[in-house]
Amino acid sequence: MAHLFVISAPSGTGKTSLIHAILNDEMSEKTKLGISCTTRKIRDDEENGVSYFFLKEDEFSQKINDDEFLEFAEVFGNFYGTPKAWVLSTLSEGYNVILELDVQGAIQVKKAFPEATTIFIIPPSYADLENRLSKRNQDSQAEIKKRLSKAKEEIKSGEDFEYLVTNDNFDSAFADLASIVFSNKGISSERKNLASKCLDHLLDH
Ligand code: 5GP
Repeated sequence: MAHLFVISAPSGTGKTSLIHAILNDEMSEKTKLGISCTTRKIRDDEENGVSYFFLKEDEFSQKINDDEFLEFAEVFGNFYGTPKAWVLSTLSEGYNVILELDVQGAIQVKKAFPEATTIFIIPPSYADLENRLSKRNQDSQAEIKKRLSKAKEEIKSGEDFEYLVTNDNFDSAFADLASIVFSNKGISSERKNLASKCLDHLLDH
């Protein structure tokens, strides 16, 4: 039976690389990644219809009015929405679907689709997250500050997700994700304990 997975993570946690590794794995034959609509500006390395469908605000509003989104949310001043028809038809064709959404989107999808599995990727610490955001050299200091404070907000919702995956190192986080997505086994109790310790630590800071 095809399954819907929703993956969220604070910006800079390594979510996109992990999801790409999952999609490139040989077990991913029956797994597809949802392509969202957004009103944000296209980046140099992006193509319309590949990373996102890039829309003007009035086009996005029209889709809201026509009830075309499974969920939509405003993130960092831009709108993002998940096309409902694509998700439903892809699942009915027997493909598992992964949606990469912000926390609000994940919570909305879980409400509309209780059988969906929700996964939250966390950094081992804020120091690690700040380090990654600085290293990727994509954002100014002010932007990094903004992303860190948004991360703190988002991490408050960590307990609302079914699975917590700690990205302390790529291979272990990948193994956790692969076990959830490909073998339905969940994650080991050792990794679960690590994630809940990290979450407690993050919530305390
Ligand atoms: P970016 O603009 O960097 O690609 O994405 C910014 C944030 O928007 C990420 O947290 C991403 O997961 C989230 N996002 C992408 N598509 C959707 C969507 O369709 N709905 C929601 N709620 N969030 C999305």
